[in-house]
Amino acid sequence: MKYHIDCEIHMHTLASGHAYGSPREMAQAASEMGLKLIGLSDHGPGVVGTCSHLFFGCYDRMCRNVHGVEILGGAELNIMNDGSINFPEHFFNYLDYAIVGLHPPIYVDEGAERNTDNTIAAMKNPKVFFVSHPDSDRLPYNYERLVPAAKENGVALEVNTSSLRAPHKRPGCVENYKKMLTLCMEHRCPIVVSTDSHDPCEVGHFEESLALLEELNFDEELIVNTSVEKLKAFIGKK
Ligand SMILES: [Zn+2]
Ligand SMILES: [Zn+2]
Repeated sequence: MKYHIDCEIHMHTLASGHAYGSPREMAQAASEMGLKLIGLSDHGPGVVGTCSHLFFGCYDRMCRNVHGVEILGGAELNIMNDGSINFPEHFFNYLDYAIVGLHPPIYVDEGAERNTDNTIAAMKNPKVFFVSHPDSDRLPYNYERLVPAAKENGVALEVNTSSLRAPHKRPGCVENYKKMLTLCMEHRCPIVVSTDSHDPCEVGHFEESLALLEELNFDEELIVNTSVEKLKAFIGKK
């Protein structure tokens, strides 16, 4: 593989209610896969069975280095149909970063233009550095507007390996990513490569994403999680 990824910022633990590893188990798996840093990004309020905002509010009690892997405290939060983010304002202070995404049934598809408007509105939040899985025909985007807006707001668009591995769940994702990534190169918009792991066995398996990036000859410079220094510089920037 042409690309080397050192960090993984999108993964779910038992706290999300539908994932199967503890933070320590995720870190151990990351260590075995040769990653240097992980970020936990459990689902925010709205997803059935997920933890309360207090889980994120206690990140200062969490062990930040396990098996030699540094751990950041993030969250994957829900964009609402009015462009707001479903999370108590004060609790953003406890996060190292937030990922925002569209998750039905919390979010109801409003078509490409409104979905794009709502996501751009959420990008303005100073803790938002990533948009998760902007890839499905079921929740379409206008990439001609999404990509330059991400660049302007210091947000990286995600290439989600879980989508590429099970494209029937996010139909159209391969073609949509090709369109999005071509525009990212044109606009010099950053991206993040993620697994969106829901089990320790998925951590560090970026294969499908890296194959797609290779096919497009995607510029490595635009991938923010190829090194710890690069990732930290990116999320320290807003
Ligand atoms: Zn998601
Ligand atoms: Zn996720």
